[in-house]
Amino acid sequence: PSAGAKGTSLLLVERGMPGFEKGKRLKKLGMKAQDTSELFFDNVKVPAGNLLGGEGKGFICLMEQLPWERLQIAIGAVAAAQAAIDWTVEYTKDRKVFGQAVAAFQNTRYKLAELQTEVQVARVFVDKCCELVNVDKLDTATASMAKYWCSDLQCKVMDECVQLFGGYGYMWEYPITRAYADARVQRIYGGTNEIMKEVISRAMGLGGR
Ligand SMILES: Cc1cc2nc3c(=O)[nH]c(=O)nc-3n(C[C@H](O)[C@H](O)[C@H](O)COP(=O)(O)OP(=O)(O)OC[C@H]3O[C@@H](n4cnc5c(N)ncnc54)[C@H](O)[C@@H]3O)c2cc1C
Repeated sequence: PSAGAKGTSLLLVERGMPGFEKGKRLKKLGMKAQDTSELFFDNVKVPAGNLLGGEGKGFICLMEQLPWERLQIAIGAVAAAQAAIDWTVEYTKDRKVFGQAVAAFQNTRYKLAELQTEVQVARVFVDKCCELVNVDKLDTATASMAKYWCSDLQCKVMDECVQLFGGYGYMWEYPITRAYADARVQRIYGGTNEIMKEVISRAMGLGGR
């Protein structure tokens, strides 16, 4: 975004424009398929045709898209959590210890039952948010609830599932390990979950800074 006389505007900056440089690829904990890097802008000249969404409308454009961005994180969280549960059900039925399947232990069955229940509850909420976004009625606070709660749940599910995989849950050859690493950033990007709670509490009339 660039600040002008009329406020913030969005500009499309393209590869090869003088003054625009990409930094080296950052080494992340997870999401390794994404090539995340720093971007440097030094007096880049941008043609007027590269103005996006109208002059001075940058902040409004970003704000309008925030609920949908946050809901996408929640959707991804629920889908990833469900995949993790499915892999864990399959694995614990197959893996034998002390002469029985890991799935036969009451702890395993109850743990997976608890996680599946929570993911089901999350899915119903996310479905409701999808209905709202389809009619342009998803407000920022509700989207923030979905983002924070579902990404927290995703991380909890990943942690519990890794535990049920035992030592194999710590090895990159198993998808649960990658899902565990990929999940962590969901509580950080799109606005941290602490910021989500700020947004929700403000919508409840609780003030804050
Ligand atoms: C893999 C990855 C991809 C990303 N992709 C994008 C992208 O595509 N586009 C984009 O714009 N950004 C992107 N980000 C940036 C991301 O949105 C920010 O990292 C995130 O919003 C947190 O900001 P920060 O890193 O400055 O943390 P900080 O603001 O420094 O936060 C540090 C800690 O302080 C807490 N904190 C900060 N302010 C408050 C407050 N008011 N009250 C309570 N606690 C507070 C935070 O919750 C956090 O725990 C990406 C980040 C990562 C890691």
